[in-house]
Amino acid sequence: MGVAVIIGSDRCHQLEDPWADRAVPLHFEEPRNAAARLAEAVQGHLREQKIGAILALGDRQTATAAHAAHLLNLPYNSPESVENCASKLRQREVLRKAGLPIPDFFSFALAEPLDSVLRRVIFPCVVKPLRLAASQGVIRANNAAEFLAAVERVARLLSSPELQVTREPDLDRLLVEGYIPGAEFALEGILEGGQLRVLALFDKPDPLEGPYFEESIYITPSRLPSGEQEQISRCAAKSVRALGLSKGPVHAEFRLNDRGPWVLEVAPRPIGGLCSRVLRFGPQRIFLEELLIRKALGLPGAEFERESDAAGVMMIPVPQGGVLEKVEGSQDGLATPGICEIQITARLHDFIAAWPEGSSYLGFIFARGRTPDFVEAALRKAHGALRFTIAPKLAVAHPVSGQRLA
Ligand code: ADP
Repeated sequence: MGVAVIIGSDRCHQLEDPWADRAVPLHFEEPRNAAARLAEAVQGHLREQKIGAILALGDRQTATAAHAAHLLNLPYNSPESVENCASKLRQREVLRKAGLPIPDFFSFALAEPLDSVLRRVIFPCVVKPLRLAASQGVIRANNAAEFLAAVERVARLLSSPELQVTREPDLDRLLVEGYIPGAEFALEGILEGGQLRVLALFDKPDPLEGPYFEESIYITPSRLPSGEQEQISRCAAKSVRALGLSKGPVHAEFRLNDRGPWVLEVAPRPIGGLCSRVLRFGPQRIFLEELLIRKALGLPGAEFERESDAAGVMMIPVPQGGVLEKVEGSQDGLATPGICEIQITARLHDFIAAWPEGSSYLGFIFARGRTPDFVEAALRKAHGALRFTIAPKLAVAHPVSGQRLA
């Protein structure tokens, strides 16, 4: 596109530009400091280039982007609106105040005695951390025993070194919500002056009934009747307004049942992982990121519509945690009519966690075709052709201390 990019990233500040992209190392858990550091780095470039826009491509980056936009006088969502989305608890509070359809909820500190917490729970419920993503640590509980087990399991996850090192706030609290039955949908949109334009509505055809909520298939266009699609879009537009979001990408999740749409969550960022590759726009079939950059910079093409073909992606589930030893069947999977790409993103010989502790998939399968049904069948067939060998991780004793390491 001929657009120069200055990257802010949470990589280690002591490494000497390992990917040769001159990224500015930032601590996203300290958004004000990270924004000041980013703004300073950007000022250094200003003599050569004009800064046109800022985009955040993940949840953790949005607060930094909002503060940096303020310092650099760039149009972006306000820090407050972004904070309204960053904490699941705060988002629920804002949406409840605005009268949007959300489940009953409360939060509690892990230090509180659980018998008094239990008295407040109505079953079935969902227990979740306040700030993680990708359904990590989200567990459904149908009764007191399941609730206590879920709380213990999420508490263990939150105290793990992998999460403590992120120094995110709220790792000592949990949110409890009423379980909303119904089919689930994801909406991808873009905001301009607070107005929401829906870019795609995805069906999630696999039932997501718990106890864990690992994602799998997303298909667009949705097969819902247009009236229900409009209900979801209207609910999304009202939610975005209530949260105060005004600019840039929006990814939102909903459940739909006989009482209408319910908001699961709204995030001021594009769809995550490699999933955005499923969306192509206009005659040149540009990808979502290009559309976002065109929109942010006021370049032509931002108004392109999604192509008319159906498209889908499967986030390849992790059947059980362990060390990924072998992947077979990719060629057969790729030969399936409709399949255009299979990307195995998990690294061989690395440990991969299953949900609810997990947060990354084995990979992604992409399909295109004339109808959503064809695309869905292609994804399932290609997935059926793949074979993953995952070896259980064994506990080993440390040779000196005798401590168990695994
Ligand atoms: P994350 O941001 O980590 O993805 P969410 O709050 O969106 O966390 O929850 C992840 C998934 O868990 C949702 O997509 C949905 O399938 C399920 N889920 C979360 N909350 C509820 C709820 N209150 N009722 C029913 N399902 C829920």
